[in-house]
Amino acid sequence: MINQQLLKPSGIVIVGGSDDVRKPGGKVLKNLLDGRFPGDLYVLNPKMDEVQGVKSFRDPSGLPDVDLAILAIAAKYCPDTVRMLAREKNTRAFIVLSAGFSEESEEGTKLENQIVEIIDEVNGCLIGPNCIGFLNEHYHGVFTTPIPRLEPEGCDFISGSGATAVFIMESGMPKGLSFSSVYSVGNSAQIGVEDVLKYLDEGFDPATSSRVKLLYIESIENPDLLLKHASSLIQKGCKIAAIKAGGSEAGSRAATSHTGALASSDMAVGALFRKAGIVRCYSREELTTIASVFKHKELKGKNVAIITHAGGPAVLLTDVLSNGGLEIPEISGPKADKLLEKLYPGSSVSNPIDFLATGTAGQLGAIIDACEHDFDFIDAMVVIFGSPGLVPVFDVYELLDRKMQTCKKPIYPVLPSVINVRKEIEAFLAKGRINFPDEVVLGEALVKVFHAPDPAKPGDELKDIDREQIRKIIDGSSGGYLTPDKVQQLLIAAGISQTREVVVHSREDAVKEAENLRFPVVMKVVGPVHKSDVGGVVLDINTRTQVEEEFEKMIQINEVKGILIQPMLSGIELFAGAKKEPKFGHLILCGLGGIFIEVLKDVKASLAPLSMEEAGSMIQDLRGYGIVKGVRGQDGVNEEQFAEILVRISNLVKIAPEIYEMDINPLLGNRDRVVAVDARIRIEK
Ligand code: ADP
Ligand code: MG
Repeated sequence: MINQQLLKPSGIVIVGGSDDVRKPGGKVLKNLLDGRFPGDLYVLNPKMDEVQGVKSFRDPSGLPDVDLAILAIAAKYCPDTVRMLAREKNTRAFIVLSAGFSEESEEGTKLENQIVEIIDEVNGCLIGPNCIGFLNEHYHGVFTTPIPRLEPEGCDFISGSGATAVFIMESGMPKGLSFSSVYSVGNSAQIGVEDVLKYLDEGFDPATSSRVKLLYIESIENPDLLLKHASSLIQKGCKIAAIKAGGSEAGSRAATSHTGALASSDMAVGALFRKAGIVRCYSREELTTIASVFKHKELKGKNVAIITHAGGPAVLLTDVLSNGGLEIPEISGPKADKLLEKLYPGSSVSNPIDFLATGTAGQLGAIIDACEHDFDFIDAMVVIFGSPGLVPVFDVYELLDRKMQTCKKPIYPVLPSVINVRKEIEAFLAKGRINFPDEVVLGEALVKVFHAPDPAKPGDELKDIDREQIRKIIDGSSGGYLTPDKVQQLLIAAGISQTREVVVHSREDAVKEAENLRFPVVMKVVGPVHKSDVGGVVLDINTRTQVEEEFEKMIQINEVKGILIQPMLSGIELFAGAKKEPKFGHLILCGLGGIFIEVLKDVKASLAPLSMEEAGSMIQDLRGYGIVKGVRGQDGVNEEQFAEILVRISNLVKIAPEIYEMDINPLLGNRDRVVAVDARIRIEK
């Protein structure tokens, strides 16, 4: 596992180091030299005595003890070399750049396992194989360029792909983003993304550790570990943004329930990120922009002042911020008038604050001061300042830098003229500043960060759930869909209120039970999975004759084993469900729409276990939340009860993890009650 020999080695040996800098073994050595690695540097190369001015050993016997080895030799030679270094040279950290391991063949997998075994034996650490290496402020252990600025307060970046790691650094560097450490985990033979995160969490030091973590993930091997350490880091004050690539496999699964059709493994990833408080990104550009937002002071409220010398970008930014729920409040009153007097005629301070193409550094300073001190309701500023190329703008960017140091409110700089004032922007970035070249990309990132959820509270365990009864029903059932009576028993045991219902097998019983339940009633077939699809649901039955007629018709339908009778209820149609996701556990879903759910797809998902708070926010995040709340004089739904049902489902699947998918569709809800009228549960043993 990750150790000091990896993070701050006193000596490094490049196995396969060469003079040819177009080869990994040559380039990694060059990077180490260019980065002025302060410790001992050696090369192991059977053909050379010196490589790029560094002492090379033809025979390993002469090599002194060395903390870290970087291997750039063919896969088949790696196990022997690793063994020799681990056992004879006290080497405890290994970065294996070489490919040709588990990503390629069975043979490669064997070699990879051997290496892990040897390194585990000495309690050492392995990065890779099949990776670009590792970077931090102490040394540049990668064979790629560019090397970003490395400093303790930069981003910690963990990548499941080497090439993508390079491209992400390339996306961040022109913006001015710096890094604290870069882990390219390659095949993750010993250490994967989750393990690095665990290390960063357990080793977190509030005084020295970076507060921004970026992840590029191709597969999540251990969702629990990721959730645990990401939430913990965020609770310690860190910000995490992540890309998870490869999410669209949902269609390939045969889905028989609503939940099955709606839930996907990508939804599980989204739910995991939300639960942890990770900001999910979908592109490199978005990831590095979100990281850039993280590197500024926190946006604590929704009121943004846009300060610009050009109308167009201010309008674009206003659109994206206000569409995303942030506000560009109007600025007026005596203090605004006083500010306006300091600007050229034709300027506007009403927000966006436009101080014209001729606006000066002095005027910008006055505007920023007013936003900082006079306009209390302003929470943050965006300064848009480019150049048509007539005059230099060093003075403006210097002022901006000074104001960013002294102001308590966050200031986000949009410096769009990356060609016209390239030198000025470079000077600004050299001060450790970050640029957002595109105001809309910044706006989208601000919106996302502002709405990012906090890590979820632990799930609620409800006391009144009949655990024994649930286990009894599950243990007494074989796999597949449970019968209506068992479904009903399970819902009762879980405390989920369900409409009264009876199953009948004769016309006489049908009439008797319908009268017992009181008209109007609903009749449904028992047997087919989707009852409406086969004409197996008849609503609003009011007379004995109707019951008799419908019974005769329905009992003829294929696969029908009996007829279910329920009272006819009214209410808003809601949906609740659960779906087991391999490795992730159960997703709990809620939504709106009854029989239209698959058309509307207005569904939110969270990972079990749920707290009431999390369940409540799932409901509030539905597109149709207005309907739940009640619109235009129409009564809404008892949200508390709806949320409680979700928590009860979460409790149920914890006690009965055999539940593979379940949906309650619909629940009929009004102000007083939320009741299940149709439920399906499939178990897998
Ligand atoms: P299925 O989903 O198998 O087609 P449901 O039992 O969900 O069958 O019934 C279909 C639709 O009929 C529901 O979405 C709901 O609109 C309506 N419905 C079902 N049961 C009742 C009931 N007891 N009261 C009022 N409406 C009902
Ligand atoms: Mg239904």
